[in-house]
Amino acid sequence: MGIGAFMALALGHPEFGYYMTRDPFGRGGDFTTAPEISQMFGELLGLWAADVWMKLGRPEKFDFIECGPGRGTLMADALRATKKIEGFHAAANIALMEISPVLQEKQEAVLREYNVQWIDDLDHPIIQSSHYPIILLANEFLDALPLEQWQFIDGAWRERVVEVNAQGLLSFAVSEKRRGAEVHITGRQDDIFECAPVREKFVGDAARILKSRRGAALFIDYGHEGGLGDTLQAVKNHKFAPVLDDVGIADLTSHVDFAALKPAVQEQVTVFGPVGQGAFLERLGIRERAQKLNQAMALERLTAAAQMGRLFKAMALCHDVTPEGF
Ligand code: SAH
Repeated sequence: MGIGAFMALALGHPEFGYYMTRDPFGRGGDFTTAPEISQMFGELLGLWAADVWMKLGRPEKFDFIECGPGRGTLMADALRATKKIEGFHAAANIALMEISPVLQEKQEAVLREYNVQWIDDLDHPIIQSSHYPIILLANEFLDALPLEQWQFIDGAWRERVVEVNAQGLLSFAVSEKRRGAEVHITGRQDDIFECAPVREKFVGDAARILKSRRGAALFIDYGHEGGLGDTLQAVKNHKFAPVLDDVGIADLTSHVDFAALKPAVQEQVTVFGPVGQGAFLERLGIRERAQKLNQAMALERLTAAAQMGRLFKAMALCHDVTPEGF
């Protein structure tokens, strides 16, 4: 099967998928994300969203969507930080897009005091039947969506697949399927080219909704802008692991190619960024907040170039509004 189908099963299979069966975060889990490092992250994203809402003219109602909300920490911090912004909570229809029943339960517990709804995709009736502006947040969501890989062999890009080899083990192979004229880059023998049609479709859908209803979507993830290379990785117990060793037990992700997302959205919305997470959070005032909370360590982790400040990037899609941070 293609890498995309393999990733979708490894992460989302109803019984054995990685996200379906566990809470992957924190010290006892496999990885730690920005909102789990410090409350500052969710607070600043909440204020970013409230600023967008004010710039939109404080609409009476808006759909406040988070994709892949994990433990619900980001949304809880965002809502706490914006409690005193008059009218913001009353206007927010909160919708969480989450695939994992285990994490959905955690989100429910953490956000008990708010009125929250769950959706499985942007074409859910709750979103589609609404005509309000939207503000969407997604941290480390796009990297979990399936990607395809193509390998340059004897002058052509051929699809990289996962197969069961003669020993009965999972292994990488290359199929007969070739990629045609849509890949304009040439490579050297064995180079790997990645693309993520599911990811492109998702941001394209978001852009179309933004275009017709106004608002902004903020995507933060680790990634790059263009280029070749294999970024598929498995992470277990805070360490990289061989991709095919612990299927359904290790997290599987890939780097987000932000440049590749732009063509899918540029006709509908204005794109801001990507900029480094460090620069983005600095512009939102993380330094001042860190001083107040005495969180020098967390500030360093979230913003330093050698930590999450540069590899992680923020990109916003906007219609009718210019967001802070870029
Ligand atoms: N944003 C959180 C969690 C990041 S992990 C944080 O920063 O801590 C990725 C999240 O996306 C998890 O909540 C996972 O269950 C969810 N997810 C992965 N694939 C998804 C899909 N196809 N649809 C909805 N949610 C998905």
